[in-house]
Amino acid sequence: SARDKTKLVDINGGWKDSSPVPYAALAQAFTLIEATTKRIEKTALLTALFLLVIRRSSKGDFQSLLQTVYLCINRLCPDYMGIELGIGESLLVKAIGESTGRNLNTIKSELKKEGDLGLVAMNSKNSQKTLFKPKPLTVPFVFTNLKEIAMSTGHSSQNKKVSIITKLLAACQGAEAKYIVRSLEGKLRIGNAERTVLVALSHAVVLAEQERASKNLNKDKLTAKLEEASGIIKSVYSELPSYDVVIPALLDAGIDKLRERCKLTPGIPLKPMLAKPTKAIGEVLDRFEGKRFTCEYKYDGERAQVHKLDDGTVGVFSRNSEDMSKKYPDLMEQLPHCIKKGTETFVLDAEAVAIDRTTGKLMPFQELSRRKRKDVKVEDIQVRVCLFAFDLLYLNGEPLLHQSLQERRELLRKHFQPVEGEFDFAKASDGETTEEIQTFLEESVKDGCEGLMVKMLDSDASFYEPSRRSVNWLKLKKDYLAGVGDSLDLVVVGAYYGKGKRTNVYGAFLLACYDADGEEYQTICKIGTGFSEEALQFHYDTLKPLETTKARGDIKVGGAKPDIWFEPKIVWEVLTADLSLSPIYTAAQGLADERGISLRFPRFIRVRDDKAADDATGPEQIAEMYERQVLAQSKGGKKGKGG
Ligand code: ATP
Repeated sequence: SARDKTKLVDINGGWKDSSPVPYAALAQAFTLIEATTKRIEKTALLTALFLLVIRRSSKGDFQSLLQTVYLCINRLCPDYMGIELGIGESLLVKAIGESTGRNLNTIKSELKKEGDLGLVAMNSKNSQKTLFKPKPLTVPFVFTNLKEIAMSTGHSSQNKKVSIITKLLAACQGAEAKYIVRSLEGKLRIGNAERTVLVALSHAVVLAEQERASKNLNKDKLTAKLEEASGIIKSVYSELPSYDVVIPALLDAGIDKLRERCKLTPGIPLKPMLAKPTKAIGEVLDRFEGKRFTCEYKYDGERAQVHKLDDGTVGVFSRNSEDMSKKYPDLMEQLPHCIKKGTETFVLDAEAVAIDRTTGKLMPFQELSRRKRKDVKVEDIQVRVCLFAFDLLYLNGEPLLHQSLQERRELLRKHFQPVEGEFDFAKASDGETTEEIQTFLEESVKDGCEGLMVKMLDSDASFYEPSRRSVNWLKLKKDYLAGVGDSLDLVVVGAYYGKGKRTNVYGAFLLACYDADGEEYQTICKIGTGFSEEALQFHYDTLKPLETTKARGDIKVGGAKPDIWFEPKIVWEVLTADLSLSPIYTAAQGLADERGISLRFPRFIRVRDDKAADDATGPEQIAEMYERQVLAQSKGGKKGKGG
């Protein structure tokens, strides 16, 4: 549309044909994206930026778009490679001082006032008089330098980092310093969810294809085509979450061939399928009525996705696609024992569970979480793990995601074998009556599990759905049956100073859920009881480095007034007695009610190291829990009155 055309001009960033993408184009796009809260506008702006890059890229140039996309989501490579930015405040303050000649204390006090080091850097730059106009920053230059900073480790790395940052800052103009500094901090703060980027990417590719073919689809056809394209790219990316592979394929073969070109590949972890909570066996039976399903033990360990590649290497990845091979060298040693002959490449979905080798008893997650995460030596390991496999997603060159669970399970059992204390298949029962399920549930708890996972077994409803919290997988925990309800995973976004004995640590915390659609954290409750002195000290130590003076822009605060704010990063698992409507907190506002929803008597269970802030429980789930509770209370009430 005409409006989109003006936006294209807006974000050109003074780009001359055939020169590398100027970073100024990104800074302009970011400024516009930051200024709107509307998802549609954010998407349109990103689409315009990507389209511009595609138009200007010569054939075979994948890097320009790839680097642009990475800078837009503030990453440098696929998640599983684990290269991250997150430069500390003091180092950045030093670099800003060096490149602008400003006094460090002035910078610090401005930071206190603004709560955003990016803004401070920009203001510092713009108030500085320069004689020469610096050479404009380009995307490849910024990207390469950020990567170098992220990858430099060891002794002299601090100085090296400061000198690269100083060099980058010296070349910044306009708003560039703001975004460079925010990138370095590891948070762009423009509300660019991965999903928005994916949609924009698919739209840009479709528009570029239309332009190239000089096609002019009518509005309805174009809308349908764009819709289809975003569906394709989302599903492909959930199966193969690597822009390094997806973007070249997209540019080379186009959106229509993307599915053929990009399939699940061993070595690149996919986002795991997740389950929905249920409160009663009756609910399970309602959902699966007339369908075949299976119940499996829900093991209390850590999700482990095990990959075996063409070249024989084996990799273990966490729920968050983190490479765990260094954490589980014992698992790596054990694995070959359970692989049968004729099993070459594969991707297993499994749970790694702590086990007592002498008694064969399973131990709770807490035991597992005591293990070091890095540089573990097999001979030092106290807590051994046993792997319980519950799904097979890939076998000998073929993705199995679109086969039924029944078929996948048969292949799993045919190609692997149990080894005592090392590997087993998740214990399953295909019993279908309430009594059978009840008995199996009790058995699972007795065996040290959290409860059951109930899964659709047949038909396309049993396909593996990467990254989805699916109704075709239901979790039935013993806690739910006791009426406590499911636990929530919440992000610590603020804290209140302690009183009395607790003055040196935080005494209470402000928690939030995460709304992936709105890309915002919504406050949900204050939690402050049930922490030991040691626990409070531990939380203080982990949270202190994340302190910010103001609430970050993507925290929907409501009426909460903590003394201090944090970068949303740490996730806690929390149980609650029940949920109530709240005029203060913003969680799930407008879903079950105009008011937000809060937790009553929240209780801390554990830190969820395996979850990132954007994996926290979402507002829909909270609204669902609340509605269920209302329903249960009204039913209970009626029963009460009746007798
Ligand atoms: P939870 O706190 O319940 O683990 P979650 O958000 O991490 O929540 P859910 O979707 O709720 O994940 O539950 C699925 C998790 O249970 C999986 O991520 C996996 O780690 C674990 N699990 C244990 N046994 C099984 C099984 N038989 N099938 C699938 N997942 C299982």
